[in-house]
Amino acid sequence: MRIIEHIEEMRSWSETERRAGRRIVLVPTMGSLHGGHLSLVRDGKRRGDRLVVSLFVNPTQFGPQEDYASYPRDFERDRGLLEREGTDVMFSPSAGEMYPAGHQSYVEVGKLGEQLCGVFRPGHFRGVATVVAKLFNIAQPHAAIFGEKDYQQLQVIRRMARDLNLGVEVVGHPTVRAPDGLALSSRNSYLSDAERQAALSLCRALNKAEALALAGEKESGRILDAARAEIEKEPLARIQYAKLCHPETLEDVEKIESEAVLALAVFVGKTRLIDNTVLKA
Ligand code: AMP
Repeated sequence: MRIIEHIEEMRSWSETERRAGRRIVLVPTMGSLHGGHLSLVRDGKRRGDRLVVSLFVNPTQFGPQEDYASYPRDFERDRGLLEREGTDVMFSPSAGEMYPAGHQSYVEVGKLGEQLCGVFRPGHFRGVATVVAKLFNIAQPHAAIFGEKDYQQLQVIRRMARDLNLGVEVVGHPTVRAPDGLALSSRNSYLSDAERQAALSLCRALNKAEALALAGEKESGRILDAARAEIEKEPLARIQYAKLCHPETLEDVEKIESEAVLALAVFVGKTRLIDNTVLKA
């Protein structure tokens, strides 16, 4: 596995591979890899001839009060994991390489970035879209894989790729969960044992909503009440939002028409967790 830290080297590697007719797949991550990331990586291996995994904790997507400085980082462990998966390139630029002094251009996302997490994390999706656009320009992939765990992020990136004609196929990958149902996340490492137990209330809420939808319930109000009630049973959990929204526009829906996304953001102790599921009418 080649480790690349500099933009010019990454770009010239990709240009050579493209000229040789090889299909490049990119999996962008912030490192601190877990089974969810590795599932994306394996999917990436299958979908192309060359696999690039980027490891970059992107400062522009963190708010001033958020966990940029304390975000878990373990370069050596990540390197070993990616090597074992047969990754061709691990691209791990520094923050200074990606945002040199004077950097001031950003991708502006529209309404999609202002809903759900965007309400509570202003500027977050602008930072995400900007770094992903930069990674696409640098690594020049034919396809890039993103997890459905970050449902809004996936929609923002799909929209950006279409709106800006980036020429990259954006592929969604199903959420990977621990055996007890908790969605894998780098931030799960912040949880104490008691908090981890309380965090299971998110997937219990999703399961409850799925069961209601399967039984024919279509009313948002009733589905959301049931989902909230599951989480409110946990004294360590505090709901930031629970929304039922249109799968593409992310606007609130009153009723499930054909499909709707139940999206949750919940604080468990000081750790903010998100999860979602697509409900079918
Ligand atoms: P992150 O390092 O948290 O920025 O995540 C990098 C990529 O992995 C994003 O596309 C995430 O949506 C995806 N991802 C993170 N956790 C999971 C999970 N549990 N299942 C599937 N994809 C995930």
